[in-house]
Amino acid sequence: MSAPTETRHESRREGSLEAPLRHALDWHNPQFYDEQNLFAELERVFDICHGCRRCFNLCNSFPTLFDAIDASDTLELDGVPKKVYWDVVDHCYLCDMCFMTKCPYVPPHEWNLDFPHLMLRAKAVKFRKGDVRGRDKLLTSTDLVGSLAGIPVVAQVVNAANKLKPVRALLDKTLGVHPEAILPEYHSATLRKRMGSHQPKSAP
Ligand code: SF4
Ligand code: SF4
Repeated sequence: MSAPTETRHESRREGSLEAPLRHALDWHNPQFYDEQNLFAELERVFDICHGCRRCFNLCNSFPTLFDAIDASDTLELDGVPKKVYWDVVDHCYLCDMCFMTKCPYVPPHEWNLDFPHLMLRAKAVKFRKGDVRGRDKLLTSTDLVGSLAGIPVVAQVVNAANKLKPVRALLDKTLGVHPEAILPEYHSATLRKRMGSHQPKSAP
């Protein structure tokens, strides 16, 4: 749900000929968390995407949607179970690529299509419902994980353990982290610590 707050001319032509215009996420609106209202918007946007399919190769969200439509009895969005909508939402990692580079229907186009903002709204609705797995909470708590795994000595142990196959198999089983996914290395000398003692040079 993105509220049009800008005054730029709303064009009827296909867009992408100028920079996309992003409206603020309307999260103070009481309807923002209304699931029925959310699904009405998901249906509107998914149906436009089904007719366009330009983003088929950007991430796993779009193929999930298009494959489900193609496998449905009706070959249209109305043949897709609502559970698949949540799968589409889960596969979006909010990179913004579809909005910034591909979509011809972003504002100022009158269809006002902002796919990442809609995914963000759906994720917020899901979170408020409490429909969040423990592994999602843990893996997205990067500050917490970083501060624990970044303790001196612990960082070295964690980095070494993350290179061991049995540990990666365990991470796969318990947290759903793919055994071949590249994991970040943890450092105890963080940038914040290094910057704390940094003295800017005075101007000559
Ligand atoms: S913002 Fe989401 S849906 Fe769009 S390309 Fe990125 S991951 Fe895919
Ligand atoms: S986000 Fe835009 S460009 Fe991408 S499939 Fe949907 S309508 Fe097409």
